[in-house]
Amino acid sequence: MVVVGAGMAGVQTAVALREEGYRGTVTLVGAETHRPYDRPPLSKAVLLGTAEGSAFDVDFDSLGVTLRLGCEALGLRPGDHVLDTSEGPVPYDALVLATGAEPLRLPGAGDVPGVHLLRTLDDAARLRPVLERQHDVVVVGAGWIGAEFATAAREAGCEVTVVEAADRPLAGTLPAEVTAPMAAWYADSGAVLRTRARVERVEPGTVVLDDGTRLPAGAVLVGVGARPATDWLAGSGIALGAHGEVPADDHLRTTAPDVHAVGDCASFPSRRYGERLLVHHWDNALQGPRTVAANIVAAGAGEAPAVYDPVPYFWSEQFGRFVQYAGHHPAADTLLWRGDPAGPAWSVCWLREDRLVALLAVGRPRDLAQGRRLIEAGTPMDPVLLADPARPLKSA
Ligand code: FAD
Repeated sequence: MVVVGAGMAGVQTAVALREEGYRGTVTLVGAETHRPYDRPPLSKAVLLGTAEGSAFDVDFDSLGVTLRLGCEALGLRPGDHVLDTSEGPVPYDALVLATGAEPLRLPGAGDVPGVHLLRTLDDAARLRPVLERQHDVVVVGAGWIGAEFATAAREAGCEVTVVEAADRPLAGTLPAEVTAPMAAWYADSGAVLRTRARVERVEPGTVVLDDGTRLPAGAVLVGVGARPATDWLAGSGIALGAHGEVPADDHLRTTAPDVHAVGDCASFPSRRYGERLLVHHWDNALQGPRTVAANIVAAGAGEAPAVYDPVPYFWSEQFGRFVQYAGHHPAADTLLWRGDPAGPAWSVCWLREDRLVALLAVGRPRDLAQGRRLIEAGTPMDPVLLADPARPLKSA
């Protein structure tokens, strides 16, 4: 077994293979030189310096997993069952693609000093002094990473301006009705949110907007999205999707024999939601590997593979709030509020007919836990009872 990409999905694949009783060799190939680590703390405790690192608590030696770090996959020859890497060819019987995603860059700003991305431990290490020295910071993009970075920067005492091209934060993810109260969190924290604002160019120390506004910027954090890290698969015969992702099937297999794909680099067809999903969140990088590992072991035993059909889940910690989301709401036809969005804790439920298909919980982790189970079970719900925040979700 060879697993390429030593992030959450790659590490979990190796761990799950052993948990499933896989006895063959397992090699984990990763481009980064650091011991494999978790990414969510990078925009939280690691950035603020309250945690030194976020290495996974996994004993690779005792699991019998060979780590090949600082080893970049450069190409794949599925017909020969060979992965080509910077350290030479690596043969495999079965291969799992787990190369994750790479942050998108701001065109023209890549070489300007003081312009940062936030994806890796090295990125976080470069950003820590920015917070320590309380620079004026401009954040480009009011998505999940932008909001979490702005939160940390405000906490560190930086002046923060967030520039967002859309008319609101999280425009690609949540409807305007839901993001309206979230936009207010920026001002509450002392950050300035400038929507419908585009960056024209970045000069050393200054961000210039397309209306001529010049924003002082001791540092710039670009958080405008991420793209699957799959360029290296060009020429392999594995067709990539519109966003560069590996389109896996419902068993997380690719079109190449004995090649599977998990985590941020892969999409999968969701039977539950009737569409293909590309999920860039931690829980998907935990659950997908469990299915892949079980299916690899099942195939060896001549058993049928399991279908991957999760209720997607993620969380974000921003502006003193714990935000959680489960499900997929574009499949919904009704939106219901539980609680006052101006208050500290509220939820939004999305229904399709009388079934819950998605839920956003702000400071209501119990709603999330119960809602996730209700979505999974497809339990019919009463919308009137559901909208009562005093009533447990599971009794609606
Ligand atoms: P990655 O973690 O990207 O790992 C892929 C690995 O593959 C990388 O180490 C990369 O170097 C390596 N690689 C890439 N190309 C090659 C190659 N050609 N050869 C060899 N190795 C290669 N999700 C949440 O749900 N909640 C959160 O609060 C949250 N916070 C986050 C904060 C930050 C700063 C970031 C960046 C992400 C956050 N996420 C969060 C998302 C979550 O961390 C990702 O969904 C998860 O890391 C995906 O795991 P992955 O293994 O698929 O990809």
